[in-house]
Formats: sequence, C-alpha cells, structure tokens
Amino acid sequence: MSEYLLTKQQLMVKELTHKIAEEQIKPIAAEIDEKEIFPRESIDVLARAGILGCPYPEELGGSGMDFLSFVLAIEEIAKVCGSTASIVCTHAGVSMYCIELFGTKEQKERYMPLMAQGHLMGFALTEANAGSDSSGMLTTAVKDGSNYIINGAKMFISSAPANDFNIVVAVTGKNAKGRPEFTAFIIDKDTPGFSVGKPVNKLGIRGSLTAELIFEDCVVSETQVLGTIGKGMKVALASLDAGRICMGTQALGIAQGAIDETIQYVNERVQFRKRISQFQNTQFTLADLQTKVDAGRMLLWRAAKLKDMGKPFGTEAAMGKLYNSDLAMETTVKCLQFFGGYGYTKEYPIERMLRDAKITQIYEGTNEIQKMVIGRAVGLN
Ligand SMILES: Cc1cc2nc3c(=O)[nH]c(=O)nc-3n(C[C@H](O)[C@H](O)[C@H](O)COP(=O)(O)OP(=O)(O)OC[C@H]3O[C@@H](n4cnc5c(N)ncnc54)[C@H](O)[C@@H]3O)c2cc1C
Repeated sequence: MSEYLLTKQQLMVKELTHKIAEEQIKPIAAEIDEKEIFPRESIDVLARAGILGCPYPEELGGSGMDFLSFVLAIEEIAKVCGSTASIVCTHAGVSMYCIELFGTKEQKERYMPLMAQGHLMGFALTEANAGSDSSGMLTTAVKDGSNYIINGAKMFISSAPANDFNIVVAVTGKNAKGRPEFTAFIIDKDTPGFSVGKPVNKLGIRGSLTAELIFEDCVVSETQVLGTIGKGMKVALASLDAGRICMGTQALGIAQGAIDETIQYVNERVQFRKRISQFQNTQFTLADLQTKVDAGRMLLWRAAKLKDMGKPFGTEAAMGKLYNSDLAMETTVKCLQFFGGYGYTKEYPIERMLRDAKITQIYEGTNEIQKMVIGRAVGLN
C-alpha cells in the first residue's frame, strides 16, 4: 500500500481529486472524446478545488502544496480521462512552473493567480519543421523600439483554442558562432497579429484541442519577455523536465485506470462456466501489469520528490516518462484483449484509454529523445 508513504496533506489532495474525477470528469469523458469538446467545466471545478494551483505558493494564488501532491492529483484525473489530465499537465505542470521559475515579480503577480483560477496558458515550442530538434525553429522575434515583432507559426499546441495566454519561444538573433539564439515570450490571446488555427483531428486526447498558433507581425512589448533575452532554450528545457513528470504521470494514470476497468470486467464476464478472472492467463497478466505500474509510480514519485527537495530531477523525469508511457501502451493493449470484442467498441472506456495512451510516447519529447537524455546522463558521449 504505497499510500502509507504519503503525508496526510498529500492523501487529502489525492482523495479530493479522486472525488472530482469520479463525479465530474469520468461521466463526460466518453462524450468529450467522441465530440472533441474541451472540458471547460471540469477545468473550472479543478481550479476552484485548488488543484491547478496545487504546487504553487499561496501568495501567488496557489495552494502551497508540494509537487508530489500535484502528481497524485494528475494520476487520479488520468485514471478516468486522458484529455483532462493532458490539459492540466500542460497548463499547471509546464506553463505555471515556467512563470514561477522565470517570471519577473510583475509577471508572477499578474499571471499566477489568474492561472490558478483556470485562465489557461499554453507552451509553444514545436513548429512544422522543428519537432524533436526544436533548435531548427523559424519563428522570429525582431526588436523594434520597446517591442518585438513576431512572425511565424507554432504547430500542435495543446489547448490552443482555450488558452488565454501562451509562452512562445522564438529566434531573436545569432550568437558569435552564428547559431540562433532564442527568447521566450508571454503572449496574451488578444495581442494584434496573433491567431489560432483549426484544431487537428486526433487519435486520442480528443477533448484536449490541439492547434496551430499563427503570428503575423504580432507586436509584443519587451515586458513580455520571460527569463533572459537569448536564453529561451533554458525556459524550454526547464518546462520539459517538469512536463515529463506530469506526462509520465498521465501515462501512469491511464495504465492504472485500464487495470481498474479490466478487473471489474473480468470479475463479471463468464465463459466456459468460469469468470474470465479465474483463468490463470488473466491472473498472471494482470499481476504482472500491476507490479509494473507500481514500479512506474515509484519512478515518478522519486522525480517529484527530488524536485520538491530542490535537487536535479531531469534524468529521473525522463526515466519516469519513458517507462510509464511504454507501460501505458503495453497495459492498454493487454487490458483491451480481456474485453474481447466488447473492448473494441465504445461501449467500454478501454479503447479510449488505448488511444489516449499513445500520445504519452510522443509529446514532451518522444521516447527516443528520453533515451538520448538518459544515455547522456549515464555517461555515453
Ligand atoms: C497532441 C499533441 C500535443 C502537443 N502539444 C504540444 C504543445 O503544447 N507544445 C509544443 O511545443 N509541442 C506540442 N506537441 C508537439 C510534440 O512535442 C512533438 O510532436 C514531438 O516533440 C515530436 O516532434 P515531431 O512530431 O516533429 O516528430 P519528429 O521530431 O519529426 O520525429 C519523428 C520520429 O523520429 C524520431 N527521432 C527524431 N530525432 C531522433 C534522433 N535524434 N534519434 C532517434 N530518433 C529520432 C522521433 O523520436 C520520432 O519517432 C504536441 C504534439 C501532439 C501530437
């Protein structure tokens, strides 16, 4: 029972989020997936409960809890809805973290309380021709007096149509070696020259709308620079480290949710006058999967704990994301098999869980990129 490893406060966050997940998020999970509806009401409920601001200081509108508490909350959400978990991860796990870490006093005071209340902020790094290698981006920000003029486009931005603000990384110059230098900006949605494209039609996390951000002579004040000019990649890398714990936990939650649904089903379904749960294949497979899920959870708790202690956690976050996202795929594929033909239909949530699992191997750095990060950390050069 890994719950014994948690504090009273952490357990409280887990139980509160579990209740919201069961009462608010689970009942609409199939519909938001089917119709590609952004779950605005669920985000508002989570904001009111203090879950979006969970790991941030109370003076900035947060709940003053630790990051591990937030990880527990993400798992509870992901157990029932990958879309909602994904939205929460990007907003509260990635963008809020970057504002807290790199924002000026004014930026923190302006954005953090709004974000804790549910005004969403996206993180825009990827471009059509710059995915894993984000240094190949072409979006530029050119200094013009006390403003920057931004031109270009960002691809696959999570929650784009619902975001009130976005952190956007753009090229602002070249260094002495002729290599591009990058700067991060906070851009409000009503900034002239900024627009959002049509959401893409996706395999999974279909309630989390994903779209392009377009910048056409978009004028942004220099007060909107996030962090140091020319050090935008530092912001991006920090966002990825925290994001990997979150997306890894999204994967973990999907895997645990799939096991929970499967246990219910195999305990009831009868073939050959036996419940499916009585076949040794069922018992061994589910025992193996639950063991791996428990191991995966410990990898993520380790990364979160290191982060809470102010220690480096990038490698541990990459390991947690790599392991749990592969495990989410393995678990959902194997669990669906126990549902037979019914698992292949929308009558049960297992097919949605399988579709939602796949993205966790792709975003916040593909798993091949995680292996490069881990490879470097173990001393490969
Ligand atoms: C639903 C969704 C939401 C997203 N949300 C966001 C968001 O909010 N913000 C944002 O900035 N981005 C977002 N992304 C983008 C996502 O992070 C990228 O898709 C991802 O980083 C991979 O980039 P790519 O798609 O260009 O693939 P590519 O980089 O073209 O990679 C293609 C394949 O090649 C492999 N590969 C690439 N380089 C190497 C290498 N050196 N060694 C071995 N294999 C390699 C990759 O692992 C992958 O398998 C999102 C994407 C999706 C689909």
